[in-house]
Amino acid sequence: MLLRRDFLRLITAAAGWASGTLAWGRNNPSRRILKNGMHYRLLGRTGLAVSEISLGGSPLPEWPLLLRIIERGVNYIDTSPSYGNGNSERQAGRLMKTVGRDKLFIGTKFHLRGPWSEESIVRSVEGSLSRLDTDCVDVLLIHGASEPEALTDDRVLGAFDRMKKEGKCRFTGLSCHENHLAVVGRAVDCNRYDVITVGYNIYNIDDGGRADALRGRQTGQDGFQGLLRRAAAKDIGIVAMKTLKSLVRMADWKQLEPLTPQQAMLKWVLADECVSSVVTEMMNMEEMEQDLAVPGMPLTGAESRALARLAASSSRLVCRSCGACRSSCPERLPIPGILRAWAYMECYGKKDRAREELDGIEARAVLSRCRDCGNCETACPYGLGVRSKFLAVRGFLAA
Ligand code: SF4
Ligand code: SF4
Repeated sequence: MLLRRDFLRLITAAAGWASGTLAWGRNNPSRRILKNGMHYRLLGRTGLAVSEISLGGSPLPEWPLLLRIIERGVNYIDTSPSYGNGNSERQAGRLMKTVGRDKLFIGTKFHLRGPWSEESIVRSVEGSLSRLDTDCVDVLLIHGASEPEALTDDRVLGAFDRMKKEGKCRFTGLSCHENHLAVVGRAVDCNRYDVITVGYNIYNIDDGGRADALRGRQTGQDGFQGLLRRAAAKDIGIVAMKTLKSLVRMADWKQLEPLTPQQAMLKWVLADECVSSVVTEMMNMEEMEQDLAVPGMPLTGAESRALARLAASSSRLVCRSCGACRSSCPERLPIPGILRAWAYMECYGKKDRAREELDGIEARAVLSRCRDCGNCETACPYGLGVRSKFLAVRGFLAA
């Protein structure tokens, strides 16, 4: 039910980025707006009305296409200091200057890598603000939170409090690439975060079936989709990412035609009422047209069943980043990080991005510590062949 308080906040937020009549009624319970062909949803307690498709900044597209995407109604950009070595933030800053600060919501991040402190977080945020050429970001997120303890660490909370007090960020958040159940579970329980950006795709279809295996070993929480429902019940905004996993592997996607696989997968995620927006990269006109056609398209039962079949048939190829293998590894290697880079190589065809990921986790050193014991494969509830993927990554690094 849309509360009056929420409704008023939605109007206030929406009024900043669009003029004219908003196409929803006063009693609209869906927390959604349709405006100039774009569908917007309320981003939880933030009150921001974000486009159902938002733009991933790793990397941002070329300038003319970027302008076109914004013109089509996309109003949330997900960036980070590590995307393109700061160039993504610089480009987002130029964009805000060009189209107007009030036309865009910006989410940027800070890392908790190496020896970090409250001061190092603050310095990182100030660097981001300088590159973005703005005083304040809308959502400030921990980049790739992988340990639940970090979410309630005094240094992190202290930095967020300072940034909010000084008017440098409006809302707090985290992005999560691995150990989802534990990290998202802690974010929901501690209730200190307004936004969670998390990998969510058709391979979560069978999460309920795996939840028993993970429950207890991980957090005692529900499965992943149950967690999203608990987050939504606390009015935490959910932004989905990593939605287009394993496109290349899904050879049988023709059964979904005339939908493209990208469209089908975006539709599936947006069919979840808990999700406010899906971050996706649009690097050419074709991708833009495909992705921006999706908002407002209902997912049919036949499509849903076809996607479930496709997910089941390629299930053993895809790492869910659940982290269930972590404790089984005698070297505590960052297995999901290596497998994420493998997915960039093999599924997305993004070799530069794969290399960026591998450099970020010092993959050569990590891989040299692997004892080839296979414990991770035994522990993986999805039956992934971790070691064969490690082999492929070694080959990639050696090439
Ligand atoms: S095979 Fe390597 S990554 Fe897997 S558990 Fe053993 S040491 Fe860890
Ligand atoms: S390899 Fe398996 S257990 Fe490990 S994170 Fe990926 S899906 Fe989870």
